[in-house]
Amino acid sequence: MNGRDEARHVGQVKEVTSLTNPVVKDIRALAQKKYRDQQNAFMAEGLKLVIDALDLGWTIRTLVFGKSQRGNPAVEKIAARTVATGGLVLEVSEKVLGAITRRDNPQMVLGVFQQRWHALKDFKPAGNEVWVALDRVRDPGNLGTILRTVDAVGAKGVILVGETTDPFAVETVRATMGSVFAVPVAKASVDAFLAWRKAAGVTLVGTHLKGSVDYRTVDYKKGPILLVMGNEQQGLPEPIASACDTLIRIPQAGRADSLNLAVATGVALYEIRRHALPTIGKDMA
Ligand code: SAM
Repeated sequence: MNGRDEARHVGQVKEVTSLTNPVVKDIRALAQKKYRDQQNAFMAEGLKLVIDALDLGWTIRTLVFGKSQRGNPAVEKIAARTVATGGLVLEVSEKVLGAITRRDNPQMVLGVFQQRWHALKDFKPAGNEVWVALDRVRDPGNLGTILRTVDAVGAKGVILVGETTDPFAVETVRATMGSVFAVPVAKASVDAFLAWRKAAGVTLVGTHLKGSVDYRTVDYKKGPILLVMGNEQQGLPEPIASACDTLIRIPQAGRADSLNLAVATGVALYEIRRHALPTIGKDMA
């Protein structure tokens, strides 16, 4: 018996061609934050992402795949895994897939997962670890790119400070290329963040256009380090900037006022990791 047969066996694969199907309606609603919050769920597209998420222990609620995937052993396997953990499996027409993903050429597989937030008190930086805090990040693409970069350099997690964009928005999840499943995320008010920081024993390295220190001249070996990035429009607010142990600046030539937030995060993270872990290349292999 193959995975699909197993899934069918317990009556969990539903064939859906109608956009009025209530499960399809619920999944389409996940495009809006209000409904993601209500359902405590989000959508991730692509077979690889869904497999990675399951491997990392995320809870899948619904697996959706296009009819053309019938017989694909990898899809059948995740269908069986979904059913085994109590999830629902939908085999849908391309019209339904296109409507769910709002794309002309949709991915053939997607999963609806339960959101996972970490409590800030459970973030306990240690050793030469690197963590990242983002002040009021607004742009979903920036947040997704930063989560991907944090994952790539082996930083340990991200703290979203203040009002931020949603890490579980479709555009953010797309930009993470799967790293949303690998990087622990917590959110906190400015006050809660500053209180946590006092107890956490972490060195705060803030980034600031008016930073007095060139980012290449700092000794980042005194870990654990928390890299603090400012809001796209306004930069770091005073209470956070003044709580930083160092304010670094990435030198610029040319006419640009500043670097893009995600680019600045990448540049700083690689420099910090170069100090904290000179063998980063080997570490990542
Ligand atoms: N107008 C904002 C300001 O005055 O800070 C620009 C913010 S910038 C687009 C977003 C964030 O990226 C900054 O708060 C900082 O964290 C980081 N950043 C961008 N360029 C930087 C640079 N050259 N040096 C240090 N940090 C930089």
